[in-house]
Amino acid sequence: MTLIVITPTTKRAKSEDSMRRWLDEIGPTEPISREAALHLVCCSDKDLPELLAAARAAKERFKPGVITYSRKVFIPLTNLCRDYCGYCTFRRDPADAGAHTMTPDEVLEVARAGERTGCTEALFSLGDKPELLFPEMRQTLRHLGYKSTLHYLEAMCQLVLRETRLLPHPNPGLLSTEWIARLATVSPSMGLMVETTNTALLAPGAAHDNAPDKVPAKRLRTIQDAGKQGVPFTTGLLIGIGETPENRVDTLLAIRDLHERYGHIQEVIVQNFRAKPEIPMAHCPEPTFGEMLRTLAVARLLMPDVNIQAPPNLNAPYYEELLEAGINDWGGVSPLTPDYINPEKPWPHLDQLRVRTEAKGFELRQRLPVYPEFLLALISRSGLLSEKLRAAADDYGLAKLKRAA
Ligand code: SF4
Repeated sequence: MTLIVITPTTKRAKSEDSMRRWLDEIGPTEPISREAALHLVCCSDKDLPELLAAARAAKERFKPGVITYSRKVFIPLTNLCRDYCGYCTFRRDPADAGAHTMTPDEVLEVARAGERTGCTEALFSLGDKPELLFPEMRQTLRHLGYKSTLHYLEAMCQLVLRETRLLPHPNPGLLSTEWIARLATVSPSMGLMVETTNTALLAPGAAHDNAPDKVPAKRLRTIQDAGKQGVPFTTGLLIGIGETPENRVDTLLAIRDLHERYGHIQEVIVQNFRAKPEIPMAHCPEPTFGEMLRTLAVARLLMPDVNIQAPPNLNAPYYEELLEAGINDWGGVSPLTPDYINPEKPWPHLDQLRVRTEAKGFELRQRLPVYPEFLLALISRSGLLSEKLRAAADDYGLAKLKRAA
């Protein structure tokens, strides 16, 4: 009998051999398997360049030579929220400093300012169903003349659509089938981050403790209901909130599964947790940039034909590296309003973003809040939304307004 002695060197050689196998599995057309993704998301620094090269090649097969962004204004309709996510700086209780629900005049003022600066997206961000928790919000809504935050959101989307060239993109949290249908008549797309499918983060002391709207099954249900109605949908994951690399892969797979069934996922955002002094998770470690790159590359390889986005302001100054990981979109960037979700991380100046995108060999193009591949189905309908979309889109389905980026 021959005795095989396992030395650290042979162990390393074996693990390199096994990583080689997963890198070799990356083909030009087929999405990678869960097993490959689980290995690649934890690859060594040595293997990372090869993973990134495969992701970038997949991006180039999908949308060659172009990186898009959406020029937007951020409309924080209300920052009251019934959830208490451990990483959130946006939410307020009614008595907190800075608690605010915008009036229709304020909404219109921001939208008109955005119109003057060439924006095409009005991103409505708001807390989830604050009136269920706060009598103050119920009173505000009564005063404004609406039964619920969603009724008010619908009216404000309608107002912006009617009075400006901007197209609304609401992010209101969980939605019923009925509300998806209602909002779809006043906005070409909507969004809800899955964030994570890890239910352990609902446990006491974890990121989603006391956040009833962050139950993963409920979020997936909303996205599924949007799929059944053919609503172009933005979603994604938040990394670094207590989940494992395996959870990241499974969250991406849950999104991929919905897209395979309904074909409506217009983009997947990979967002990284940033620690801030005022949040309950102030002392939690942020994910490393290496984790961010690996997650982005694996997202691209799991979903080679889906738009993959990373927010530049949360990763400054490493824009070039994000492009190396296979993204094809910078998301919403505002020339006007701050990122109210991450106010300490200013958006890059759009000239800067263009220079750095072009330096990597890409053209930077302004898109609408709905991606070109989902546009045709929307403009073939009748009504105001369709008219506004036809007026806003160029021949490629991107933004017609040609302004300096
Ligand atoms: S992340 Fe969203 S749901 Fe969670 S507390 Fe903040 S506003 Fe509310």
